[in-house]
Amino acid sequence: MADPAPWTFVVEQAQVSEGPWKEISPVLTNTVVFVDDVKRIVSKDHVLFFRIKMTTPTATYYSFVKAPYGDLNRREYLIVKDIMRREVLQQDDMAGILGRVWIRATSGPRCTNCIDPITGNVTVSNCRFCLGVGRIPPYLGPYDVYLTFTPSRRNLELSQDGLGLQQPYTWEIRLVGFPYLKDKDIALDIASDKRYIIDGVNNELEIRRIPVIQVLHANELPVSDPVYKLKELDDGDGDGDGYGGGCVLPDGSIVPSLVLPGGII
Ligand SMILES: [Zn+2]
Repeated sequence: MADPAPWTFVVEQAQVSEGPWKEISPVLTNTVVFVDDVKRIVSKDHVLFFRIKMTTPTATYYSFVKAPYGDLNRREYLIVKDIMRREVLQQDDMAGILGRVWIRATSGPRCTNCIDPITGNVTVSNCRFCLGVGRIPPYLGPYDVYLTFTPSRRNLELSQDGLGLQQPYTWEIRLVGFPYLKDKDIALDIASDKRYIIDGVNNELEIRRIPVIQVLHANELPVSDPVYKLKELDDGDGDGDGYGGGCVLPDGSIVPSLVLPGGII
């Protein structure tokens, strides 16, 4: 790299390995060390990611994304990348469908409409602003992925509304390790617009603590679920696929929260 000086660096943090990214360091010039004193209280799920943005007078560069739980050297990174490429190829050719995932927010501003100020709990499970998640925006995404569905179980049970029996399907959904998913994230089948809530994630293949292939246990959500109010914004690129980040809240207001590789929504 032969870019002219000065080179500046910024450390960025995100809840999803694909972003959106938030700067957590000042702009660092002529320094290669940054120590952050902030203590982060998060679950054991993969919900924290970091990268470094480098800016020179001629270009901007990004480092690989780092998660706190594992690390790969270059050779291992290339192996992981190749395994993922083969998996996606197999899904594209035969077994998979094009789907999307929404990542449930684990940090961000709390919803002022439904959070009890004393206990911090969500008091309205179908809150029109946060859909019962308690954060604004409630979900990050969507992120386009290939999903391979396998029906794993069918139970006959009493429906919650007391109107008889229902036979919900439980599915196993296989996909590559990016973005990492966790319980209560949402997977979506684009063709049918059916939405599934994740209830358990198995890392089918992990290399040095980095998930390469994950298998989700997912339950189909009834169309009455608030998650169906989560809509995708068209990103305005004219292809009409609606791909974009952010969400339209039930009251019609838009949370343009996301910056995806495709641009700002
Ligand atoms: Zn709310």
